[in-house]
Amino acid sequence: MPSTSKPSGSALPSYLQAEHLGPWGIYLQQVDRVQPYLGDLERWVETLRRPKRMLIVDVPIHLDDGRTAHFEGYRVQHNTSRGPAKGGVRFHQDVTLSEVMALAAWMSIKNAAVNVPFGGAKGGIRVDPKQLSLGELERMTRRYTSEIGIIIGPTKDIPAPDVNTNEQVMAWMMDTYCMNEGSSATGVVTGKPLDLGGSLGRREATGRGVFTVGQEAARHIGMDVSKARLAVQGFGNVGSVAAKLFAQAGARVVAVQDHSATIYQASGLDVPALLAYVARFGTVAGFAQAEVLAHDRFWDVDCDILIPAALETQITQANAGRIQARMIIEGANGPTTPQADDILLERNVLVVPDVIANAGGVTVSYFEWVQDFSSYFWSEDEINARLVRIMQQAFAGIWQVAQEKKVSLRTAAFIVACQRILHARELRGLYP
Ligand code: NAD
Repeated sequence: MPSTSKPSGSALPSYLQAEHLGPWGIYLQQVDRVQPYLGDLERWVETLRRPKRMLIVDVPIHLDDGRTAHFEGYRVQHNTSRGPAKGGVRFHQDVTLSEVMALAAWMSIKNAAVNVPFGGAKGGIRVDPKQLSLGELERMTRRYTSEIGIIIGPTKDIPAPDVNTNEQVMAWMMDTYCMNEGSSATGVVTGKPLDLGGSLGRREATGRGVFTVGQEAARHIGMDVSKARLAVQGFGNVGSVAAKLFAQAGARVVAVQDHSATIYQASGLDVPALLAYVARFGTVAGFAQAEVLAHDRFWDVDCDILIPAALETQITQANAGRIQARMIIEGANGPTTPQADDILLERNVLVVPDVIANAGGVTVSYFEWVQDFSSYFWSEDEINARLVRIMQQAFAGIWQVAQEKKVSLRTAAFIVACQRILHARELRGLYP
């Protein structure tokens, strides 16, 4: 007699479980929060809890002094129901598989939240790139690209810059991929230099998106951006551009924190001077026209808008109660833990979540990919106008869902995004 009990599939392996603390655990809690709002699509929710494909690679390189060093690299494709996987590559000494898994999942959510036709991916190497010479950095990038070359490609998975990676790193990645494939495939990465098929506006796109949704959110809560005081954590690609655009709109940037210092000026920092200083010295430390604060005092700064634009899990149970801002715009990915989200909701602090707030970068990456395929390039005005339109539309839709369902903007963004992903999953069905 054949058994009537069917196998139910394997239980979540330990490295996928919520107790597995860190960014992946946070992401799983966010999925738990959205599950009750998925209606019939709930039957597919497990799709969101399991990355589609995860690759761990050894990246050996020759160091300049003749020794050999090995680094651990990752590429995680979380979901491809809506299109090729898409997401950045991070070089950082604290990169872990859990972090890359969460960042890949947040890319799936982000791409669906702004409705660009991509799934989600992320990659990284556990390395402090500041310890490497330029030649070592290039060799490491090229070897990593070769190792993940078996799963990336213009219609499969398209990397982009993230923390400590830039246009030059993308140029090496593109070149390595093209050499291995024996073809010219500029669309394999985005965030490339302009002369290699990059897009105008890409470098500033994430910060511009932060500014755009910040303006929209401020309008909804009756905040005048031109009179707002800002505190910005992280003064790299995202934080510096967001600070510049808010300052140009009249806001006062009163505090900036980076990896080495926290600086404060109640009357507002001179942002153009700070940009020039950081371009020269690589950090805000030592900027003369400001007071220096202890690292942890950043969270007590009196301000109206707080922009975390550095790393994840910065706003936690420990500091959420101290934040003075009325609004937080998440430039970074995953800067706020679910427990901190609850405290901020209780305290009536509006959190504009990462999956919409920092989606400007991937939106212009999408434009870059489209331009590469057609080999026809748009003007910067056209790109910025399309970016603003997509961001405004996405924000308006998510705001409406938040009002209708009486949920936070994060849960609303997850509702919109997860419904899109799972609807695609349902339409495609399961192969075979
Ligand atoms: P970046 O490397 O250009 O800048 C990072 C900044 O964070 C630097 O100023 C660094 O000093 C600061 N920092 C690092 N550790 C810190 C710490 N412990 N405390 C305070 N500051 C610290 O990186 P980026 O591209 O601006 O990315 C920042 C965040 O934005 C990341 O979470 C990234 O995933 C996210 N993001 C980036 C993009 C993009 O297009 N670059 C797009 C979407 C999201």
